[in-house]
Amino acid sequence: MKALDELTFDNRFARLGDAFSTHVLPEPLDAPRLVVASDAAMALLDLDPAVAETPVFAELFGGHKLWAEAEPRAMVYSGHQFGGYSPQLGDGRGLLLGEVYNQAGEHWDLHLKGAGMTPYSRMGDGRAVLRSSIREFLASEALHALGIPSSRALCVIGSDTPVWREKQERGAMVLRLAHSHIRFGHFEYFYYTKKPDQQAELAEHVLNLHYPECREQPEPYLAMFREIVERNAEMIAKWQAYGFCHGVMNTDNMSILGITFDFGPFAFLDDFDAHFICNHSDHEGRYSFSNQVPIGQWNLSALAQALTPFISVDALKEALGLYLPLYQAHYLDLMRRRLGLTTAEDDDQPLVERLLKLMQNSGVDYTLFFRRLGDESAALAVARLRDDFVDLAGFDAWAEQYKARVARDGDDNQEQRRERMHAVNPLYILRNYLAQNAIAAAESGDYSEVRRLHEVLSKPFEEQAGMEQYAQRPPDWGKHLEISCSS
Ligand code: AMP
Ligand code: MG
Repeated sequence: MKALDELTFDNRFARLGDAFSTHVLPEPLDAPRLVVASDAAMALLDLDPAVAETPVFAELFGGHKLWAEAEPRAMVYSGHQFGGYSPQLGDGRGLLLGEVYNQAGEHWDLHLKGAGMTPYSRMGDGRAVLRSSIREFLASEALHALGIPSSRALCVIGSDTPVWREKQERGAMVLRLAHSHIRFGHFEYFYYTKKPDQQAELAEHVLNLHYPECREQPEPYLAMFREIVERNAEMIAKWQAYGFCHGVMNTDNMSILGITFDFGPFAFLDDFDAHFICNHSDHEGRYSFSNQVPIGQWNLSALAQALTPFISVDALKEALGLYLPLYQAHYLDLMRRRLGLTTAEDDDQPLVERLLKLMQNSGVDYTLFFRRLGDESAALAVARLRDDFVDLAGFDAWAEQYKARVARDGDDNQEQRRERMHAVNPLYILRNYLAQNAIAAAESGDYSEVRRLHEVLSKPFEEQAGMEQYAQRPPDWGKHLEISCSS
């Protein structure tokens, strides 16, 4: 275990120089205080969780103090936002404080979001509010606990600093951890500004640091792009299987590592709805739940375009062609497991699709359905779940097929079925209304609810005593909360 002043820095991105990022110091928050910290994320830095409670912790991550070895930088990037190209974005309110490596030799970027104005702030104030910082913190750690690749969050620091959004709110900072903060948009920036030397430097950096195994391949850049395609296919399969809607899949929000990144107006589905749009500002539904799959490919194509100086168009196209089949294989594999199946049959895909259509038409809770399906034998579970459906004949027909399919699967040990299914079907997910309750309490100075919710979501598959209220469908007020982009 390390004390806070024992972190070891190795700022590899900063060393790329001023073409890639700009030195900027964090702008301190007034009266910084700890809102919540993640013990699991602290462990990634070998930090003793107790240090989160010390005043210096809030000072460091509230922008008042800095390690001597930290080199805070605002990174430049661009990207396609809602389908249109924005030539210059960049860290407008976040700073890469530095890269730290732990005892296991892993490097972690320390990225402080809400740290004040930078050369890339454009019209913004450089700040993040408590509400959005809590949402990012909870989501990062909850996705990770579900097994969905994600950036991590160390802590949220609250403050008295006023910040104006639709109304006056309070400023906060969230400390984000990832092996890299390089986005698709970094490559797009150097491609569209026609800076081939820097673009090559960036590509070498990513290849050497994050995809070293691709060096062994005959075409290392192509191997790296393939790997990025594969990771994205797997990540998005997990989003779809668990009902996660990102909300702002712009290419500047897509990580080069294939991890979920830059949380804004995201949501987990309550009732299953393929057409769900979680971002109130997304009028066309470009980033609706089911569109995430083709948009994943669209974003990879935008990255491919930026990689044309290094890789032939034919090879890029071929690699892009891997996306959909890989996505489908990962998705179907997960959905089979969610249904408790241990073997594969050709008709499993239509079995899943028919179930989702029935759930869609009846507004069935996506998370609880699968959890309850594993509580009992297939026959007992479907008999009990039947009441949630409006189209009873349709459900009965599906249930007969499902029971027959389970029988062919050949496993009739109920204990094993429950264990196997509960290990992939969470009881607790980050429902918008749960986040909203925690945010409302935190805004009035009570951080206990955020901390409790974080704790519950860190073990989403384990039933936790006394936590029944976190495993319920939303109350009426919490069903259709409007989450805007303003954060
Ligand atoms: P986002 O929608 O949060 O991914 O942000 C898109 C771009 O806007 C990024 O370049 C952000 O750094 C920038 N940005 C968002 N909010 C602010 C803000 N309050 N101040 C400055 N820049 C911001
Ligand atoms: Mg962003």
